[in-house]
Amino acid sequence: MIKKYSKTKLKKFRETIVKRMEEISQDMDDIKESIMDKGNPKAGLSQDSVFSLHMADAGSDSFEKEKSFMFMSRESDYYKNLSHALERIDQEDFGVCKICDGLIPEERLLEVLNATKCVDCKTNDKLNLK
Ligand SMILES: [Zn+2]
Repeated sequence: MIKKYSKTKLKKFRETIVKRMEEISQDMDDIKESIMDKGNPKAGLSQDSVFSLHMADAGSDSFEKEKSFMFMSRESDYYKNLSHALERIDQEDFGVCKICDGLIPEERLLEVLNATKCVDCKTNDKLNLK
């Protein structure tokens, strides 16, 4: 018999995950807006200053954009993982290690909401990869 988290516990996990997902989508909206803002022509500046500003900013601007895009793709991956975690809650196998069928401790799940392996199996995985 595989151990599972109780419905009450699962409900608590679901609330935490949903809240985290809302935070992520809010973050992503903010970043999208800041990328859009940077795309706008700098209003109220003379041609000369636009040119010199552009020259000075060109490097850091694209770096900032790159950073934003990297952050976005990482966040959207995390978002997807969290929605998979929600599916596992629906199937009531959330928090069950997919390798040894052991129960992943609650503290670890709250830390890593999309964890699918217990610490032991994860460590073994890493050792095997080496
Ligand atoms: Zn395990």
